[in-house]
Amino acid sequence: MVDSIKKHLILLGAPGSGKGTQSAILCDKNGYGHISTGNLLRSEIAKGSELGLKVKSVMDSGNLVSDDLVVELLKANLDLATSSYIFDGYPRNLEQAKTLDGILSGTDSVALYFELDTELLVDRLTKRRVTKDGKYIYNLDTNPPKVDGVCDVTGQELIHRDDDKEEVIRSRMEVFESTISPVLDFYRSAGKLVAVNASAALDDVYKEIIEKINL
Ligand code: AMP
Repeated sequence: MVDSIKKHLILLGAPGSGKGTQSAILCDKNGYGHISTGNLLRSEIAKGSELGLKVKSVMDSGNLVSDDLVVELLKANLDLATSSYIFDGYPRNLEQAKTLDGILSGTDSVALYFELDTELLVDRLTKRRVTKDGKYIYNLDTNPPKVDGVCDVTGQELIHRDDDKEEVIRSRMEVFESTISPVLDFYRSAGKLVAVNASAALDDVYKEIIEKINL
């Protein structure tokens, strides 16, 4: 779909704050392209590519993959001439925020910060189940699949990501907390930061996003 007038949406928030879930709804209802660097990296691992082999152990530990590797993957999957995008999981640090700013120069964008209490996040991630490609996301309490372990839409098996297990979640949270402040400052000083209450129910988060960005 060619739609150059829509703003690109840059989703910022801890793992489990609902970026992926809202991305799916926003794409479905508003025709965005979805760029999740986590999904792109996991797909490289699944393919067994050279890149996938390089990043697997870093991802398993909950740490960030190097900026250079991620930006190459990002650029290879973007077509800014034809689509408006949701960036989900990129940028993760100030360097990446500056890089993305350069990539998106000359286009309009807004950064949505998904605010949520850390304890809630651990609970959400331990109960999160996803399809292998990361496209469909469930929560065993708040948004369970109709049949245990099976995606309602595609019938694929649902998995509990290795890095959504409690040992790794804590280190992913630490990584998030130690890198997010300068990213928020960067977008705040550019007048592009919009905060969203991500502890609300799924539909309410969506409504708040739509209202705040005038979609
Ligand atoms: P996510 O699916 O966004 O939670 O990402 C899962 C993992 O992929 C992260 O814990 C990182 O190891 C890696 N990753 C995803 N996006 C990035 C990024 N922008 N920069 C560095 N590493 C990333």
